Amino acid sequence: MEIKKANLSWRRALTPLKRVEKIFQHHPAHPSWGVQEIHDDHQNRLGWNGGGYTHFIYRNGDIYEMRGEHQGAHVGRDNWNERSLGICYQGYLHNDSTGNTTEMTNEQVKSGAWLNAKLIKDYDLTVDDIAGHGEVSATACPGNLFRMDELKAQAKQLLKSEGKEQDDTIHRVQIGAYSKWENAANTAEDAQDKGYDAYIGTRRDYYVVQIGAFGELKNATALADQAEGDGYEIYISSQALGPAEQPEEKDADPEPPEEEQEQEKEEEKEEKEKTPITGRAKATYRQAQKWAKNRGAHRRFIEIAELYWGYGEQMGIRPEVLYAQAAKETAFGNYTGVVPPTHNNWAGIKIREGGPNNDPDAHEKFDTPEEGVRAHFNHICAYVGKEPIGEPHGRYKTVMVTAWAGTIKYVEELGARWAPASGYGESIINDYLNDLLDTPEPEEEEIEEETSKNLVEAIIEAMKNLIELLKKFIKKEEH
Ligand SMILES: [Zn+2]
Repeated sequence: MEIKKANLSWRRALTPLKRVEKIFQHHPAHPSWGVQEIHDDHQNRLGWNGGGYTHFIYRNGDIYEMRGEHQGAHVGRDNWNERSLGICYQGYLHNDSTGNTTEMTNEQVKSGAWLNAKLIKDYDLTVDDIAGHGEVSATACPGNLFRMDELKAQAKQLLKSEGKEQDDTIHRVQIGAYSKWENAANTAEDAQDKGYDAYIGTRRDYYVVQIGAFGELKNATALADQAEGDGYEIYISSQALGPAEQPEEKDADPEPPEEEQEQEKEEEKEEKEKTPITGRAKATYRQAQKWAKNRGAHRRFIEIAELYWGYGEQMGIRPEVLYAQAAKETAFGNYTGVVPPTHNNWAGIKIREGGPNNDPDAHEKFDTPEEGVRAHFNHICAYVGKEPIGEPHGRYKTVMVTAWAGTIKYVEELGARWAPASGYGESIINDYLNDLLDTPEPEEEEIEEETSKNLVEAIIEAMKNLIELLKKFIKKEEH
């Protein structure tokens, strides 16, 4: 089987995918459209860069590449487009009264299984990472006639039989493991320049750079020797591909003892119910900006989002949590309370000595909007026990001497601490954060439109100011 090129023309260059965590299955909900019709529809009617899927499978089983291993536009939620592939199967695979219904063909199931199995191998995934679009979004896609169980069973069979041929073990040659994507990308690029077929694999919380995978250990060793000669620190990871669905890598941590597992489960349960403050972002700043805009935010609040995400990543604090809090504290940057916008105080932070809530001078003034963001992050550091960045503001020290300093883990715990109201944390979650997280990632095209709209708005504002100025000038001349 092979993947054919579709030769589509895009409005601009496609963005390579940085990682792949899932493979979504779709149908176009049209009985006869093929690659070109879908591409035209997405480009002309929707105004996108072009067809949103990464691959397409015709009723006869032919497989085509659309965006290929580039960022698609097929699952808007939770920035899935940045971290998944989307295979579309020709037809209207949903049984309803529209009269458009078509069956999924045997050829489509077979090709779909082959393609998914191939991508699973390429990206170190498992059969469980094959998902229907409707599993993460409120949609009937890929339709109730999509033969998911059969497709998964066939993909599993393919992976298993290949594993058998290779003595049930696959030996991967790695030349590095990194917590940061950029570092992995640098090594991969360097290796590619030296002629290696390097690619990046995603593990649970780090990235590995691999230059090959072999059924026979001696082949892996040969390549490893060569890479070692080129100055790389090499590592061979051998993974069983036996009947077990999700084989553990031999280099993975040993299973923790049962008691610890129990405790972990308890903690996991707790995590699920509560909202952690620290950790990686669960939303992008684009999503946050769209949400802020929907909620009538001031432009200064929309513009500050990117900085929140920058500090969040740097400090291991969820930026969307703090951004939601800032929305609550400043009424989306409209500053309807006592603190004026010139204070650049995004989080209602008081001066060291404190003072009444209705006294603007009892609140900290920061030199720039960014200084206000840094202080917001530093302030939360005193709560969660992280190191601040740069010299912290006065109030930070007031928090540091409380009994609970450094012990706060969840947004729910901010009540009666950050603010007097006991439901303060819940309000951040229910009135702000949940809505932010539910806001779909804007399409690339949407963002561009937004940017040009902002530019036009800025020009209009500047012209208005100019006209006002001219009016004054003209009046003066008259006198
Ligand atoms: Zn879909």
